[in-house]
Amino acid sequence: MEVTFLGTGAAFSPHAYNAAILVDRTILMDAGAPLTVHLPKAGVSLDEPRAVMLSHFHADHTFGIAWLMLGRVLLHEPSPPLTVFGPTGTTVYLERLLDFAWGEEMRRLSWERLQLTVHELAGGDAFEVEGSRAHAFRMQHARRMDCLGFTIERDGVRLGYSGDAEMSAELEALVSASDHVITEMTYDDQRAPVWKGERDIVLNEGGRMHLARKDVEGLMQRHPSTRFIITHRGSDGSVNGAVMARDFLTLRLPLR
Ligand SMILES: [Zn+2]
Ligand SMILES: [Zn+2]
Repeated sequence: MEVTFLGTGAAFSPHAYNAAILVDRTILMDAGAPLTVHLPKAGVSLDEPRAVMLSHFHADHTFGIAWLMLGRVLLHEPSPPLTVFGPTGTTVYLERLLDFAWGEEMRRLSWERLQLTVHELAGGDAFEVEGSRAHAFRMQHARRMDCLGFTIERDGVRLGYSGDAEMSAELEALVSASDHVITEMTYDDQRAPVWKGERDIVLNEGGRMHLARKDVEGLMQRHPSTRFIITHRGSDGSVNGAVMARDFLTLRLPLR
């Protein structure tokens, strides 16, 4: 399995682009990076991805799909079909996003030309993406928003992806179902949250929205046989024993 990071920064990270991870050139996990630039820069054509798995509807995970969809239709004729997996409400979210981005006419055009298929998932759902078995896990992240993590099995590797998440039993289950896991670490600090504004907003009642360094270190201790790859980074620190993803890093899994 080949994994290329097209964006590894947290939403407001000053040093990296927003979340997008490409698996085997054909599957995108989140679409927050500027894909019309970053796919070609990674040596991948805009018409190669066949499926996009959206973890949740925050802008730093989704806005790039507007460029992927219309750019692919305008630059590649005929354009291969595209399938999008995401939480409940993905169809309406994509319609609104494309309407705002390019207008209703272009939304209809790209939807048709891409033969867009949308699969809305709930935590616990099993599904198939590009011939691989996958599972959705409900993550705790933002109040009143369905947020998912995923596992996908390919080439004998069970790869997990947390999306955005705070600590929860479901996150533990996702890590435990993965031999390699890509997990967020927004707060590179022992004390979370470090974004003062977030503390004031309290978007997730009593929760912290994201993982801090101590959360990731705790997960690593409890799941010693899982290899950790850290993304959605708020700063550029490192964690002993984990791979720190950066923009345009390509990994071949399993890691040696
Ligand atoms: Zn995010
Ligand atoms: Zn988020």
